[in-house]
Amino acid sequence: QARQSHEFVCRYRSGWDEDHLRRLQLFADFKQALLNDEISLYYQPKIDPRQREHVGAEALIRWVHPEFGFVNPEEFIAVIESAGQISLLTRWVIRTAVKQVQQLRAQGIELTMSINLSALDLLEDDLHSYISKLLHEHELPSRCLCLEITESAIMQEAERSMANIQRLHELGLLISIDDYGTGYSSLSQMKRLPVTELKIDKSFVLDLDSNEDDRQIVKSTIELGHTLGLSVTAEGVETEQSRDWLVANGCDILQGYLYSKPVPAREFGHWLERYLRG
Ligand code: C2E
Ligand code: CA
Ligand code: CA
Ligand code: CA
Repeated sequence: QARQSHEFVCRYRSGWDEDHLRRLQLFADFKQALLNDEISLYYQPKIDPRQREHVGAEALIRWVHPEFGFVNPEEFIAVIESAGQISLLTRWVIRTAVKQVQQLRAQGIELTMSINLSALDLLEDDLHSYISKLLHEHELPSRCLCLEITESAIMQEAERSMANIQRLHELGLLISIDDYGTGYSSLSQMKRLPVTELKIDKSFVLDLDSNEDDRQIVKSTIELGHTLGLSVTAEGVETEQSRDWLVANGCDILQGYLYSKPVPAREFGHWLERYLRG
């Protein structure tokens, strides 16, 4: 199958730009890449600065392609979405993350694992039953999973998306609003959603130390989140100075290179052991 698609790509090479060919190639190789372990999950800790034993993680996908090398997740996710295959990838991500959670529990470490969903995942009416079955098989409580969803994803087909988010919430999963502040936000929509976490995008956090505007934005976002009864997370925490500022201003959960970059499962396990030992 892989060779066939390669021939296909070669035959049509003339007349198409490099970019288009690259996307075609990524799409052609994607299923095999899942089987070959070219695609894997990395994990990045989510830290509660007030409670060391309370640690979570976000699963982030990585693809090291034999020809292209490291491929940016946003690039290949867009390719897979437009090819209508995202549900295959998302289910692989959820399965892999759930196995990781179970393995950590066997080592005595309980954590909540956050998973990123695409807009198209929210249009799948049976995602909740897939996850429910999976959790049941692994004897895991539903609160060990948090789904990170962007507002723009929800808005694409708002009624249907919200109905599906409601189902996922009723299953007991945690729901997070990701990339908060980057899209257009609708507070009235937010109020209707069963959300537990608001995640401030790293574009507001990376320059906290030097940018007063960002500090104002982050400060009022934390206040807004707390007014709505949400836990507020900041991603992109790279310096001790920004960590201290975020803690002083009431941010609940911190994530960023200051603590750890996203790392492979084994390395993440070692990181957790060191961190929890204190
Ligand atoms: P995101 O969900 O907003 O993820 C946060 C991004 O910030 C990640 O980039 C992470 O590696 C990066 N990051 C974390 N801490 C820091 C920091 O301190 N400094 C800087 N400069 N960056 C930091 P990554 O892994 O490249 O992922 C990019 C995007 O790809 C994600 O943005 C998410 O939208 C998407 N993505 C990744 N994995 C998946 C997945 O399994 N499924 C779906 N649907 N999307 C995914
Ligand atoms: Ca995310
Ligand atoms: Ca983000
Ligand atoms: Ca994102």
